[in-house]
Amino acid sequence: MNLQKTVPLEGQKEGFTAFDTSKCIHCGFCLEVCPTYKLARNEAESPRGRLWLMRQVHTGRMEASETLIRRVDTCLGCLACESVCPAGVPYRHILEGFREYIQDHGPRPASKRLTERTLGFLFAHQALFFFLGMIGYGLDAARKAIVSALFRLTGKKPMFLYRGLFGLLPEYSGMPSRVFFGKSFQPLRLVPDKTARPLVVFQSCAVPVFLSKDLECLIEVLRVLGHRVVLTKGESCCGALHAHMGLKKAAKKQALKNIRAFGRGDLAGMPIVVMPSGCGNFLKQYPKVFEGDERGAQRARDFKAKVVDFIELLCKDERLEGLLVNKVELTAVVDEPCHLVYGQGISKELYGLLARVPGLRLLPFEDAKRCCGAAGSYTLLEPEMSREVLQEKIRQIKQAGVKAVITPNVGCQLQIRKGLLEAGLEDVAVINPIRVILASITGRPLGIKV
Ligand code: SF4
Ligand code: SF4
Repeated sequence: MNLQKTVPLEGQKEGFTAFDTSKCIHCGFCLEVCPTYKLARNEAESPRGRLWLMRQVHTGRMEASETLIRRVDTCLGCLACESVCPAGVPYRHILEGFREYIQDHGPRPASKRLTERTLGFLFAHQALFFFLGMIGYGLDAARKAIVSALFRLTGKKPMFLYRGLFGLLPEYSGMPSRVFFGKSFQPLRLVPDKTARPLVVFQSCAVPVFLSKDLECLIEVLRVLGHRVVLTKGESCCGALHAHMGLKKAAKKQALKNIRAFGRGDLAGMPIVVMPSGCGNFLKQYPKVFEGDERGAQRARDFKAKVVDFIELLCKDERLEGLLVNKVELTAVVDEPCHLVYGQGISKELYGLLARVPGLRLLPFEDAKRCCGAAGSYTLLEPEMSREVLQEKIRQIKQAGVKAVITPNVGCQLQIRKGLLEAGLEDVAVINPIRVILASITGRPLGIKV
């Protein structure tokens, strides 16, 4: 894909860092893959329409009005449009450039600006994020206790406790855990071929808080494969959320912290294994964050060369074949996170990995590649559209009649589970593929009703 900057156009707005909006040939191939266009049926909320609007601002023909910005704000950044575009329009970079521009130049509701800054601050401060996560965990535990008490008394589950405002509180997979930070775990089994290497795991900010059990599973699988697993203390949020909101300076700051933290001492030569697809995708985008700063970009390229999604890693590991020996009796559908399929292009690897698990039955799922509406902070900034996008996916999961949805991204896991709870489908679990892999290796139950 050609990511070269445009030659500045006549009348181009100063400070606008967009790429070539003029590459769009208006063919419209992208319209039917765009979740927001499919819902709104409004050209202005389609990729082609948004590109046209951004081009008008880019070239100074139109002001970035509040209405115009709204049209671009409802974009999920899911990248489905990029995947079908015959002209190679670098949509993601145009969108991020536009969002960066309007942070300083566009009229935006004060409430939205405040929410964006608050989220940016929160995600950049891991200890505070963790502390709030602990409070959330306590509230979720209290909610679970109330639900089961009322179920015992009335025979009905009070599902309203998962809807509306209550729905903002996610369901936790276990108690948040910071014990992971700064630890080193030795291999569990010696592998004969001496190919096992030390690895450093990028934990992400949300996984130790909401899905600490999944992180434990990943560490265990890597150790079984003979790896020494290291976790660094200096890790920071990857910055994807900041970039998505147009807070590029903050995203760069996060990137710098991670490049330093993962380049220290022993860690410098270790591959960096990432579990959430969204973080993996953005860590691989770091060189783009340092555009115009050659020294920074070189460090980012060196960093990127070490990043590997856990699915890529496991998929290539031949030793796994002999370890996946236990049957996992489960019928499920797979959800492909946007940043796995369109961002990193490693969807096939996910299916390839799951195909090696005996007993696992995956049903065809038409909606697998469609965004679930989580999209980083989108679920909080654009709750109505986020919910509409999600509902379509939930409807299809219901139709499939499965007991589990398998997806490897933390935001998608939380979002789909929220949708299922709201729809009264609390018996349908949303699980990370790493749980299925571990269950097949160890024979331990998945911990869900199947
Ligand atoms: S990124 Fe997704 S939501 Fe945004 S225009 Fe492209 S397809 Fe539509
Ligand atoms: S598919 Fe690409 S070239 Fe065609 S309208 Fe969409 S963005 Fe433009």
